[in-house]
Amino acid sequence: MSLETEDQNRLELLLERLQEQTEMFLGYPVAKDFDCRALAPFLELPVNNLGDPFAPSTYQVDTREFEREVVTFAAQLLRAESDSWWGYVTNGGSEGNLYGLYLARELFPQGMVYFSQATHYSVSKNLHLLGLRHIMIRAQPNGEIDYEDLRETLRIHRDLPAIIFANIGTTMTEGKDDIGKIGQIFQELAISQSYIHSDAALCGFIAPFLTPRPAFDFADGADSISISGHKFIGSPIPCGIVLARKRNVDRIARSIAYIGNLDTTITGSRNGLTPLILWLAIKRLGEAGFRSRVVGSLEVAEYARGRLRNIGIDAWSNPNAITVVFPSPSPRICQKWQLAAADGITHLLILPNVSKAQIDRFVADLLTDMRPS
Ligand SMILES: *Cc1c(COP(=O)(O)O)cnc(C)c1O
Repeated sequence: MSLETEDQNRLELLLERLQEQTEMFLGYPVAKDFDCRALAPFLELPVNNLGDPFAPSTYQVDTREFEREVVTFAAQLLRAESDSWWGYVTNGGSEGNLYGLYLARELFPQGMVYFSQATHYSVSKNLHLLGLRHIMIRAQPNGEIDYEDLRETLRIHRDLPAIIFANIGTTMTEGKDDIGKIGQIFQELAISQSYIHSDAALCGFIAPFLTPRPAFDFADGADSISISGHKFIGSPIPCGIVLARKRNVDRIARSIAYIGNLDTTITGSRNGLTPLILWLAIKRLGEAGFRSRVVGSLEVAEYARGRLRNIGIDAWSNPNAITVVFPSPSPRICQKWQLAAADGITHLLILPNVSKAQIDRFVADLLTDMRPS
C-alpha cells in the first residue's frame, strides 16, 4: 500500500519543517534527545494497556509488566511507602492532575480546593469538570504560592476539608510550593481533613536530585503526584505518570467483567507504547543518568543567564531551576524561537538537549534585534 507521489511529498515536507522547527525550540519544556528506534517494531502491533496496570486482563497484547516497572521506579524516587501506593502511565501531566483531584473529591466531596494564581491553565477546567469548589490564592513574584494568603484563606474556611493543588515548578517561572510549609499551616489551624496533590509536570524527575531537596513528595506529605513524560524525559509521544495512595484508589475501583480488570484509570484504552518509552529512558539512564541530566541542565541554565545579563538583559531563575526568565523580546524573536510570553515576561527552558552553542545563537539573534535599525 504505497502513497501517491503528491502525498508522499507532503509527508517529506512536513518532516523537514518539523526538523527545522525542532532546532529553534527553546521556549517549551520538552527534551528532544530521545532515541526510540529500538521500539519501532512495536508500532505494528495493537498494543493496549486498557484498565489497571496491576490487575490481569483478558486483553493481553499489553506492556503492563513494563508499565509496573516504570511506576515502581517513580514511586521509589518520590519516596512512596512500599505497598501503600498505586499508579499508572497517563496521557500527560494534565490527566494525572485530573486524577489526583478526582481522588480528592471522592474522599472529600464537600472539600475546598486551593491553588495559586500561577497554576497551569488546565486546572480550572478540571475543577469545573469535577464540580469542586475552589479558591485561587495569590502567587509570589517568583511563582511560589503566597503562604500568608493561603493561611488567611484557610482560616476562614477551617470547617471544610482542605484540598491543596501544589505547583512543583510553575509553567512560567518554575516556582515550587513547599508542601512542608503547607502541612505546618494545617497544624497551626488544626485542619484535620486535608489532601495534597503535587503537580510536578516538569520537576518530578528533577526535584529528587536537587540539594536541598524541595518538599514535594510522599514523604513530605503529598497524597498524589503527577509528572509529564514528554518534558524532562522527552518522550516523543506525550505521556506522564500519576501516583497516589492506594487506599484512596481502592475507594474508586470497580470491577469490569468485559475487560476482566478494574476500572481505576481515567480513560479505557491506554497507550501501550509510552510505558515502553519511559521504561527505555529509565533503563538507559538509571538514577545516576537522571542526576547528570539535571546537573548538566542547571549548568547550561546558569550559562544562559550569564550570557543574557552580559548583553544587558535582566534574566533570573528560581534557585535550582532550569527556567530562565526575562522581559519579552520582540514578537519576531518570540515567534522564531517559539517563546511563550505572558505579562511582559518570557522564558527559556534549558532541557538536557539544549547546548551552549544554541544559547550563543539565540543571544546573537537577540543582539541583532536590539540594535537600532
Ligand atoms: C506542562 C504542565 C502541565 C500539563 O502537563 P501535560 O503533560 O502537558 O498535560 C501541568 N502543570 C504544569 C505546571 C505544567 O508545566
